[in-house]
Amino acid sequence: MPTDMNTYKIAVLAGDGIGPEVMEEALRVLDAVESKFGFKTERTECFVGGAGIDNCGKALPAETLAACEAADAILFGSVGGPKWDSLPPDERPERGALLPLRKHFSLFANLRPGICLPELVDASPVKNALIPGGFDILCVRELTGGMYFGEPKFYGERDGEVIGLDTLIYKKSEVERIARVAFEAARGRNKRLCSVDKANVLASSVMWRDVMNAIAAEYPDVELTHMYVDNAAMQLVRNPKQFDVMVTENTFGDILTDEMAIVCGSLGMLPSASLSHGSGTFFGLYEPSGGSAPDIAGKGIANPIAQILSMGMLLRYTCKETAAADAVDTAVRKVIAAGYRTGDLATGAEGEIRVGTRGMGDAIIAAL
Ligand code: NAD
Repeated sequence: MPTDMNTYKIAVLAGDGIGPEVMEEALRVLDAVESKFGFKTERTECFVGGAGIDNCGKALPAETLAACEAADAILFGSVGGPKWDSLPPDERPERGALLPLRKHFSLFANLRPGICLPELVDASPVKNALIPGGFDILCVRELTGGMYFGEPKFYGERDGEVIGLDTLIYKKSEVERIARVAFEAARGRNKRLCSVDKANVLASSVMWRDVMNAIAAEYPDVELTHMYVDNAAMQLVRNPKQFDVMVTENTFGDILTDEMAIVCGSLGMLPSASLSHGSGTFFGLYEPSGGSAPDIAGKGIANPIAQILSMGMLLRYTCKETAAADAVDTAVRKVIAAGYRTGDLATGAEGEIRVGTRGMGDAIIAAL
């Protein structure tokens, strides 16, 4: 629960690669919205990922976890890079930091907006004619259940044959809680929710669909439809504009959200939120959808927008500072409409204003 009406504690975990560069811009934008909208944040900056390993011997140092526990929300950059690739898998930055954080804080709801702004349709691999005016999808992925966590898991010999075994299991209560997050999100948007499953084959999906239908009764204002996951994968590239909010289980969501990111154009534009219920509000970890981009780290050319929009989601979902969150989203749309482009977005079109990480931050602050 936020510390008091107008002060929020944020653990700032910039991480590796482009993480610190884009985080700096997100914090500068946060300074600007704080003074404009009259709230405060208390920020604790901590090492995580490769920086955690180098400075404290662990990807998720104890002091970092303690700072996250004391916070209302975590603003996360990105972790990993070639320097740490030779470590054992469980000690590497991603596995050693992000998965434990998701588990520790029961971050069961992953919200990923997939927005292709009208000015950036050329960056999408989908034909312009199929996405006039761009599109705006929100994918809600269940993040702590399903096959990635289900037991038993086994790889070895059984009855004279080598087998690999994973278990796809969901409890009704797990589906109910993600369903409510998705219906609430749809209620705040265009009131259309598409639940994605594989109910023609999987028992867990039949249960998932029954629960979605039951929870729909609590949200008569939201239109619920169902789609098989193989069809959803096709529809995302054929006609992404048909979707408002999608909700799906962990494994399907992992694949569909990456597909959605590509369909949108650049990874540098896409924020995400991983939420768990607090008392009356959401605790959350907010991070860009992309990674640490070692190929461009240290050059000052990374697009900071995904990190800035992640900070905006933090204001929306944890702090409930809706006006400030709207202002961040609007400022980003304005600078894109005005032609500002980092390298990942540039097409060479007339009127483009090429900027680096700092230049994009400056433009967004000016637009605020
Ligand atoms: P990546 O997302 O870091 O990069 C993929 C491509 O997208 C690169 O060409 C990169 O330059 C570009 N890109 C990504 N973000 C950008 C931005 N903000 N602006 C401009 N271009 C951007 O994925 P990868 O190369 O597969 O992974 C690199 C490292 O990041 C690996 O160590 C991986 O484990 C890690 N990673 C971390 C996270 C995380 O922290 N959540 C997620 C994915 C990958």
